[in-house]
Amino acid sequence: MINIDNLNDNQQKAVKHIDGPCMVLAGPGSGKTRVITYRIANLVLNENIKPTNILAISFTKASSLEMRNRAISLNNDFRLTKVTYGTFHSVFFRILRHFTNYGLDSIFEEKLKRMCIKTILKSLNIENADDDETVGQVINEISYVKNELMDRIDFTSEILTSDEFSKVYNLYEEHKSQLNKIDFDDMLIKTYHLLKENKRALEMVRGVYKYILVDEFQDVNKVQFEVLKLISNPMNNIFVVGDEDQSIYGFRGSRPDFLLQFEEYFNGAEKIVLDINYRSKNEIIEVSNNLIQKNNNRYEKIIKCSQGKGAKVSYISPDDAEEEALFVGKDILEEMKKDYVEYTDFAVIYRTNIQSRALVDVFMDLRIPFVVKDSIITIYDHWAAQDILAYLRIALDPKSNKDWVRIINKPFRYISKDNINLMKEEKDFIDALINKCDLHPKQVKTINDLEIDISYLKTLTPKNAISYIRSSLDYDRYILDYCSNRKMKATGLVEILNEIESSSTNFKTIQEYLDHIERVKAEIIDNRNNKQSDGVIFTTMHSAKGLEFKNVYIIGANEGTIPHEKSYDIDDEERKNEQIEEERRLMYVAITRAEESLYISSPLNKYGKKATKSRFIDDAKTSKEEYRKKIEKENMINGINVLTKDEIDSITIGDKIYHKRFKEGTIIQKDGDSLKIRFEDGDKTLNARVCLTKKIMCKL
Ligand code: ATP
Ligand code: MG
Repeated sequence: MINIDNLNDNQQKAVKHIDGPCMVLAGPGSGKTRVITYRIANLVLNENIKPTNILAISFTKASSLEMRNRAISLNNDFRLTKVTYGTFHSVFFRILRHFTNYGLDSIFEEKLKRMCIKTILKSLNIENADDDETVGQVINEISYVKNELMDRIDFTSEILTSDEFSKVYNLYEEHKSQLNKIDFDDMLIKTYHLLKENKRALEMVRGVYKYILVDEFQDVNKVQFEVLKLISNPMNNIFVVGDEDQSIYGFRGSRPDFLLQFEEYFNGAEKIVLDINYRSKNEIIEVSNNLIQKNNNRYEKIIKCSQGKGAKVSYISPDDAEEEALFVGKDILEEMKKDYVEYTDFAVIYRTNIQSRALVDVFMDLRIPFVVKDSIITIYDHWAAQDILAYLRIALDPKSNKDWVRIINKPFRYISKDNINLMKEEKDFIDALINKCDLHPKQVKTINDLEIDISYLKTLTPKNAISYIRSSLDYDRYILDYCSNRKMKATGLVEILNEIESSSTNFKTIQEYLDHIERVKAEIIDNRNNKQSDGVIFTTMHSAKGLEFKNVYIIGANEGTIPHEKSYDIDDEERKNEQIEEERRLMYVAITRAEESLYISSPLNKYGKKATKSRFIDDAKTSKEEYRKKIEKENMINGINVLTKDEIDSITIGDKIYHKRFKEGTIIQKDGDSLKIRFEDGDKTLNARVCLTKKIMCKL
């Protein structure tokens, strides 16, 4: 038996639902996952439904495991382990393996997929085919077309012409089928076609999975919904839980409409609303409610609060992104002085990865540990940034062939691919190009002029050098031509260039700036490799979903960033409204991560131009806090008494220390700045550079 007395009335109603379709609509932190797990236990333990007839689906491996563990922990009955818990991919692939010859060795791994697409792009002479960004974009686009079950002819690529896109798509499909491999998207569409075309297979699957439960249903896309419809018919014992206000994966083909269509398709579906939030304090729920009510394409639901009042919600407007990052850093250091506060209680949430650039710089300066949740790729890895850095590297080392090859035709300088390929292994690429190739005198002059320009760069500060590359060496024109040839908007690429230029502002020499970039990359790789687990979380709004933090800072809340420019720079009114609503949901997801304190920040300027605060700030009716303007970097560092390098070096294994939170401990391992310390309640790895502040920890 399972006792459900500790659930609220609507939660109980949902858990007790047995046959027929049911949709649970719920706000953030309202116990959606809790309800799913209790319902599984109820079906198995109280209703005696065979566990092997139950299928529980979630979106990621991690959340699927979490669901399994939570269900099993409700009651130690072994029957709960017999339920099928899986992701769409794992469940569909299992079906496919059963009815076809595909096996575990048929999977076309993501790494091979990237290599394959890259090779295809190169074979078609697509520009920047070598760059991860381009390859990633093409992979996403192919994936979107498949998940939408659409014809590739109807799709408009953002970076390829329709002819190029079709060619890449076909070559990729041919390559896989020759190897008899399938990728993750194929697992979904092949299952869809199998069940649609093979009646016997469909009947068998229906006979096994008689009760289907889906968490985070707002994230389903077309192909997933179609398969769910096929296998749940005709009994329609399908139970879905979701929050259409948190549907943020439009680019992968998920839409809130599928949740809204559920009722229409599954006639007579029971609808239950969970509207009590167990996560956030009242003020946070209020602003999130204000905001989301501006969306039209949703079910009306007012979220109530169980945590009471007392949250701090503020809106601030620093001068620019640098000052904003300093403010966040300073505020976190202040809060850390209190007892029982950890770095992991804080999250900085932003719309695009680019925005983490200033944060990383400032947090490294202030020695605050951080963990970047999203991709390991920094802005410096973007191909346009790499072009700019190649120019800078040549300024310092005119014999850097690799960099010359990269930029010689950016903008186009009429040097043929053949000549470049012939000369790139020579000792001095430029010298060889001029002396060994039969160049036209005009070409020689162009190269000579470029050499003079590049040698001039090293007399400039990095910021002026980048600005010179962009304007006088015509790199910006190259970017604009690049975009107009592909009929794509240039704003994204121009933003990368602006951010790179702005990242160089505080450096006196090009060498200093290049060294700094190497350090940033090393730091990010380091914390990605989990050396640093105790840090402030930096995350995009997308990756923040499902998480919760005591304190949240939403940065860069400006028009153009959130809502993102590409969501409203569209002619089609209907599509524009859809996109703006998705942006509003993203902001909603970000706000609803906070438990006790929330800062929303809109810098007054961006890249030297006036910036406008996000329309979502007025929607949310956030009140403005008098902004504490005096932010002195030096004072802050002095204020927290960071240990000097000599002091850190003097620490040896066996030393006793006292930590504000973990109390007394002994150093048992030391690897550079990283210390392993044995405390009474276990071993912790802490970063000396950051945690050995005299206020937090001292040597005994
Ligand atoms: P998200 O929108 O982030 O996915 P969710 O709706 O899935 O959230 P859960 O993770 O199930 O929410 O629950 C959020 C928190 O609230 C959990 O810590 C859970 O234990 C708690 N909670 C849910 N229902 C209750 C309840 N009736 N009484 C006490 N705590 C509850
Ligand atoms: Mg959940």
